[in-house]
Amino acid sequence: MSHLTTNTIQERNCLNCGQTFDYPDPRALYCCDDCKTKYNNRKRVERQEQRDLEVVEVISELVEENTQLENHIEAIEIQWSNIDILKKLFHSYKGESVCKIHLQEFIDLGFNFSKYDLKKPLNKNADFLIFERYELYLTENQFIILKRNS
Ligand SMILES: [Zn+2]
Repeated sequence: MSHLTTNTIQERNCLNCGQTFDYPDPRALYCCDDCKTKYNNRKRVERQEQRDLEVVEVISELVEENTQLENHIEAIEIQWSNIDILKKLFHSYKGESVCKIHLQEFIDLGFNFSKYDLKKPLNKNADFLIFERYELYLTENQFIILKRNS
């Protein structure tokens, strides 16, 4: 009888505390109810922490996307405003397709270079900025040559 009992009892390790325990039910995972409660609580906390991490990740992605979008919108607004300045300038030049203006005067009109790399596209006559149908060249004596393409 005692031999039979020994056979049906299986030794295994508690999922919570890791201690070896004997329990008649072969499906038992914990040495006691306390360990079962503690294990389930710990798992619940871990799942919640995992979800919190995922939420933080999603939020930071959204913030990043929003920042990019805001920068993009700002760049478009500057572009619109710049083109508006160019249109008015050419309007005052009455039909001319090329005009020349000092860089400082141009900036004083409100032209915004902040979204463009000034050095790269404007440091040589061969390089220029293009806005819609306008081309801008910077001369060595700090004048801007503007060309309007039809
Ligand atoms: Zn235990």
